[in-house]
Amino acid sequence: MNTKFDVIVVGGGHAGCEAAAASARMGAKTLLLTHRIDSVGVMSCNPAIGGLGKGHLVREIDALDGVMGRVIDKAGIQFRMLNASKGPAVRGPRAQADRKLYRENMQALLLDYPNLALIGEGAEDIVRDADGRITGVVSSAGTTYMCGALVITTGTFLRGIIHRGKNQHSAGRIGEKPSVGLALALEKLRLPMGRLKTGTPARLDGRTINWSACEEQPGDNPPQPFSFLTDSVKVPQISCFITYTNDKTHAVIRDNLHVAPMYSGQIKSSGPRYCPSIEDKVVRFADKERHQIFLEPEGLDDDTVYPNGISTSLPEDVQDALIRTIPGLEKVTILQAGYAIEYDYVDPRALNRTLETKTVPGLFLAGQINGTTGYEEAGAQGLVAGVNAALKAAGGAEEFVLDRADGYMGVLIDDLVTQGVNEPYRMFTSRAEYRLLLRADNADQRLTPAGISIGCVGAERAAAFETKHRKLSEARELVHRLQALPVELERQGFKVNQDGVKRSAHDLMRYPDITVEGLKKLWPELSAIDADIVEQIEIDARYSGYIQRQEADIRAFRRDEALLIPADIDYTQVGSLSNEMRLKLGKHQPDTLGAAARIPGVTPAALVALLRHVKRKSAPETKVA
Ligand code: FAD
Repeated sequence: MNTKFDVIVVGGGHAGCEAAAASARMGAKTLLLTHRIDSVGVMSCNPAIGGLGKGHLVREIDALDGVMGRVIDKAGIQFRMLNASKGPAVRGPRAQADRKLYRENMQALLLDYPNLALIGEGAEDIVRDADGRITGVVSSAGTTYMCGALVITTGTFLRGIIHRGKNQHSAGRIGEKPSVGLALALEKLRLPMGRLKTGTPARLDGRTINWSACEEQPGDNPPQPFSFLTDSVKVPQISCFITYTNDKTHAVIRDNLHVAPMYSGQIKSSGPRYCPSIEDKVVRFADKERHQIFLEPEGLDDDTVYPNGISTSLPEDVQDALIRTIPGLEKVTILQAGYAIEYDYVDPRALNRTLETKTVPGLFLAGQINGTTGYEEAGAQGLVAGVNAALKAAGGAEEFVLDRADGYMGVLIDDLVTQGVNEPYRMFTSRAEYRLLLRADNADQRLTPAGISIGCVGAERAAAFETKHRKLSEARELVHRLQALPVELERQGFKVNQDGVKRSAHDLMRYPDITVEGLKKLWPELSAIDADIVEQIEIDARYSGYIQRQEADIRAFRRDEALLIPADIDYTQVGSLSNEMRLKLGKHQPDTLGAAARIPGVTPAALVALLRHVKRKSAPETKVA
């Protein structure tokens, strides 16, 4: 058996699948070492991919030739564009998945992936050489697998403890053992570690739900695929349903708070503020009369239903009582009770932007282990870590780093490594400052060229990208070239100032009520443009003023990012810096002036002092004759 690899990825969850695939696409001989091959691609919680902010991440993963977008296109049973009526910057593609189809398609894709081997064993220990560089891992079967770089993506498994009422037991997620040996190995490396918590709702038997008491929510027709490579979704589509909690539900919860691990003191770590448990919602939003619940079928040939919105760790009998107060669920059978899980994470400030740890050369971390929550956040980190691990193993100095103006992936990693986390981090569009440019629809335009140049984009995608790019350039040229005088436009029913000035199709698209569709009667040649290209040129035209302003902001941002702070800076030597600022900067260790500015509480005066210090140190010394 071969035991020597360029890159080893530990964990076959969402970060691990992207990391392993990205490393393999880079040409590195890669091993995905995970507890069980049949659990590769398992969705631990909600069977859905995408959403607000998260959908952007999936499109970006896809733009870099990642696997998540292509797999959900083969497994999605309800596709919806969230915020469809709002501006293009905040629209969020989302798809409900058939849980089994997602897992099966991910496994089929990876088992056949060039340069990639999968082995179903746990990683128990980490091996390093005399200089502290990573050289391999020891598996649960006692085998040592050697590598040039290691990516750990163990999700919620590190010393996981499941809570349900007063009951608690060790587990990585329901029905699976925790990872203890590896947690101890990471602790020995003196990485800063902490505990976080997340939770999941009960699963319901759809045959016992009174669907007529719930509101139907159909998906988009036609469904819009995630991947830039998918022409159309072929999986049959279904509806989801909506119901609500009520005062009776809230009374059951309030009466049982003393047995809720979150409130009894049994769980001490922080959970995701933006995805709270139902007991948390009832306490924190006490004046709210009801909370929405989406009833989401878990598959086409599966009666399991995921009630999105009522994650809980209350005892089983209380879960049963509270769920039966909800319209449509009065006679429901619970197939699996909800639970909360506490697990170890590593403070992501211990990482570089490549997701390599600062203190252990060759060790990369990605996914929930870095304090995030969600498949998309995990996948995005996995891809960046996988590419960088392959570069590291190849021995060159090249790195693959995305900044906040490149994409949500850059925002995610910058937030993690400069700010750290004190609760599970999830992505939102509001976290990105250059939203109008970082749209889900243009992820390929923003990132595929970088992926091609670093080597993580395969030939099929590169060719598809070149074709689309050419069509986009031709369409842009056409809409600038087609021009008409105001009299002519008025004759066709377009209301414009009769100032005698010619207007191009591009100029006209800046008017709120003029679309390419409307302009076709004047210029039939516009009919030849593909729908996805039309969307792009309309957005470019309509928001051109704002886009130009954001491009100027990005130039200023990149100037600050270009100002590097040396890794060995001694903050006690920076003049005019208060002790508080010295401590803060010393703790966060920002790598650029821009990153220092994003640390909460760092004052403009401290930034000026830091800038002066760095410039003085980097200026060439003047020779005294
Ligand atoms: P995971 O998907 O957890 O994958 C980890 C993988 O590593 C597994 O395949 C495991 O077998 C493997 N592994 C672990 N240790 C070892 C080892 N030593 N050796 C070999 N293999 C190992 N996300 C949300 O967005 N919202 C939520 O509300 C939400 N709730 C959740 C509730 C629960 C109870 C759980 C468990 C997860 C929840 N999630 C939620 C999180 C979502 O499942 C994760 O964010 C996502 O799966 C993280 O991906 P990952 O790749 O980091 O880890």
